[in-house]
Amino acid sequence: MRTAVVVGAGLGGLATAGALARSGWRVTLLERADRVRPEPTAVVLWPNGVRALRALGLGSGLEAIATPLPDGGVRRPDGQWLVQPRPTPADRTPVVVHREDLHDALIAGLGDQVELRTGVAVRTVTATAGQRPAVGDGRQTFEADLLVAADGTDSEIRRQLAPESGVVSSGCAAWRAVVPWYRAPKLPADQPVNGETLGAGYRFVAASLGERGESGRGGIYWVATAAGAPRPEPPETQLALLRRWYAGWPEPIGALLAATDPADLVQQEVRELRPLPRAYGFPAGPGGVVLLGDAAHAMPPHLGQGACLAFEDAATLQSLLRDARLPDAVQAYDRARRPRAATVVRQTRRMSAVLQTRGRLALRARDAALGKISPRLRNSAATAAAQWTPPTP
Ligand SMILES: Cc1cc2nc3c(=O)[nH]c(=O)nc-3n(C[C@H](O)[C@H](O)[C@H](O)COP(=O)(O)OP(=O)(O)OC[C@H]3O[C@@H](n4cnc5c(N)ncnc54)[C@H](O)[C@@H]3O)c2cc1C
Repeated sequence: MRTAVVVGAGLGGLATAGALARSGWRVTLLERADRVRPEPTAVVLWPNGVRALRALGLGSGLEAIATPLPDGGVRRPDGQWLVQPRPTPADRTPVVVHREDLHDALIAGLGDQVELRTGVAVRTVTATAGQRPAVGDGRQTFEADLLVAADGTDSEIRRQLAPESGVVSSGCAAWRAVVPWYRAPKLPADQPVNGETLGAGYRFVAASLGERGESGRGGIYWVATAAGAPRPEPPETQLALLRRWYAGWPEPIGALLAATDPADLVQQEVRELRPLPRAYGFPAGPGGVVLLGDAAHAMPPHLGQGACLAFEDAATLQSLLRDARLPDAVQAYDRARRPRAATVVRQTRRMSAVLQTRGRLALRARDAALGKISPRLRNSAATAAAQWTPPTP
């Protein structure tokens, strides 16, 4: 039986460990935290992410927990439309999923061929021609035919195998929350919930998960981005600041922030890899090491593609491992994933430039251009997303 060690039990690691186990591998999943715990927020999955989850055999579980997210357009803080909402064909419509529901679905997909070891913080990696790939935490060493580094933005494995790639701040911080349905503001029927509002260095996006009930956690998800560093104050003060920053912005923003509890709030510095690693696959011994998810291509969340790409990585790896010899699959994974990640990162950086525009003249130019740029950018991202399919033999 072929063996794999997957490092990191985030969305990428869980999806990969389950996929390998369902393909007949014996998998050890190592996680630094004492418990594998999802964030109490939500995630938008574009058609490429949904297709990847289907390829991984998780499609039916996803259907039960996902809510379609129709285009809500883009407004200015004064309520004027920058981009009007447009009907989207079903195959281009993203879905929004509570992360706890997605996490449950991925855990259910692990089956009994995955040995999950928590409290193991990997510190060393060995990836040389004549030796089986291995990782260690200073006390134990874990060897396998294949090693998957899904250890996130601060990946220790990437730091050692691709030291040229560094983590930098994207210049903004993000706050997210899901207001549970029972506490969600009751909005007038003609008041759309979903959509994006864009100011000078500030952005607010809302997406309704609906009521749901039996089939998953309902509520309204929102994410606010603001230029600058994360705030050191306690969540109560952060929430008060958010309410001040976004005061006067079009509803439902005020109503959502008013209904948010400080305990719902998740704050994060937005960071990215610059440059991207020069390789995603490192042949070693009978197999090798691959970088996957944020460990390979952490990027700002402006196009909502980080988790989608992690699922693409997992689906690609699973497909290549089914069809090629192990060392060839490691190299084929590198060839398939690097250009793909580079394209999405390029699109995300163009979106970052639009979002971070500040100064009156620059803003006016942006607003004038946004009506044209944003649909084009959003379209090209949506098209690139929709076009992705898992590799076929
Ligand atoms: C504000 C925000 C909004 C976002 N919205 C979206 C969205 O709508 N759609 C989308 O597709 N993406 C979105 N993303 C991106 C998405 O959340 C990430 O790309 C995705 O969660 C990455 O998953 P991962 O498994 O690669 O990494 P992580 O989730 O970071 O998991 C890494 C795991 O590895 C563990 N680990 C780390 N180091 C070690 C070690 N040394 N040893 C053992 N274990 C270790 C960690 O504890 C963690 O459990 C968003 C991101 C942000 C910040």
